Amino acid sequence: MLVAGNWKMHGSQAMVRGILPVLAAELRSVELDVVVCPPFPYLSMVVECASGSVVAVGAQDLHPAASGAHTGEVSGQMLRDVGCEWVIIGHSERRADSGETDAIVARKVNAALDVGLTPIVCVGETREQRESGRTFDVVATQLASVLECAGPERLRSLVLAYEPVWAIGTGLTASPEQAQEVHLRVRQQVEAFAPGAESAMRVVYGGSVKAANASALFAMPDIDGGLIGGASLDAGEFAAICRAAEGRPWNK
Ligand code: PEP
Repeated sequence: MLVAGNWKMHGSQAMVRGILPVLAAELRSVELDVVVCPPFPYLSMVVECASGSVVAVGAQDLHPAASGAHTGEVSGQMLRDVGCEWVIIGHSERRADSGETDAIVARKVNAALDVGLTPIVCVGETREQRESGRTFDVVATQLASVLECAGPERLRSLVLAYEPVWAIGTGLTASPEQAQEVHLRVRQQVEAFAPGAESAMRVVYGGSVKAANASALFAMPDIDGGLIGGASLDAGEFAAICRAAEGRPWNK
């Protein structure tokens, strides 16, 4: 199981100093992957504060190129250099705010894998796409381009995050059953592309997950954890979500 916190464009040095010691203490003995993804300026500080604890550190994006004339951008190698092990790619806010296409997302996934970062790749439908019955098609298209680009051998090193856009930051959560049916489809698509990879690859859910709804979501057989936005800014809430994930009997 994996629980990753996406701080988005929130935080400060004071917040890092406040949250990390609490998480380290609260999660001293949990057996799952816990990741915190702060904004770029705080990465080094979070790495330092998380050192020796169960908490690993991820970035929220990277550039597809290894280096070069890309003002304002950050490469995967730089993220590794400061101690990151994970990176969120293709979040719906980046797809919407920065025009990230499936092709760009797929290139970023390869860039991450090339330097040994574990990508958490976000896919998910808008409310309008769900209401018009296109959820599975939208998610399948987003996923297909990642599968094609990464290739069958590298899929085990990748995490998929199903994040229905209508559930992100809205307080609306997909029901466990709604999430489970998409996760199952995702796994079947991965299996068809690379038989065997579907059981190794983790598929996590994101969209208004809180301590109050985490256990029900994590009880679903194809939900392998969560990508947590707003609730990851509160150490106690995030720790409670992590404990809910740890309790799942088939913890992987
Ligand atoms: C996210 O940003 O990935 C997310 C799931 O946000 P929230 O938990 O706030 O809906």
